[in-house]
Amino acid sequence: MRIADKETASKILREVPSNNAFYFFTSIGQYTGEYATSLEDFCRKIRQIDLKSIEFHYGREDFEKWIRTTVGDAYLADKIKEIGKTLEGDQLRSAICQTIEERIAELKKTLTTKSVMPKRSRKSIELADETHIKRCSFCGNKINTPTLYKGYVFCSTKCKDSFISSREKPKPKTAI
Ligand SMILES: [Zn+2]
Repeated sequence: MRIADKETASKILREVPSNNAFYFFTSIGQYTGEYATSLEDFCRKIRQIDLKSIEFHYGREDFEKWIRTTVGDAYLADKIKEIGKTLEGDQLRSAICQTIEERIAELKKTLTTKSVMPKRSRKSIELADETHIKRCSFCGNKINTPTLYKGYVFCSTKCKDSFISSREKPKPKTAI
């Protein structure tokens, strides 16, 4: 998923314990002495690491696997996988760096975006719903005169009230 929620974004950007770190080798048994414990750290190391190490790991799909499994970003893993279809050597290195940096920036933006929508934009969403959604969110019937409630639209006040009570009864504290 391209757009991660805040929880996922902070998970992807977290620092992992050293036993889950990415250890850079140039071939089997040839450890470079470098390792990365986060996506940002990984990006920094990729910039400087011996090209042999990049080619070794890339060929074994190790970057992709680490990003997918340990870091937990399938979207980025897929992008990293795509790069190697067209690039190699230093171009591959640059493209990996750039792709990861862009993803980090995107995830950081997700973290700083306010989750509570300002009132004005919420109103415009309601208006957009009025235009585009033609069916009642509760009974599914076609709507002639829409009744709006927090981004939902209903055919009648009765449906709106039933919808609210059906959502609120099991978990009274859940915000709609
Ligand atoms: Zn209805």
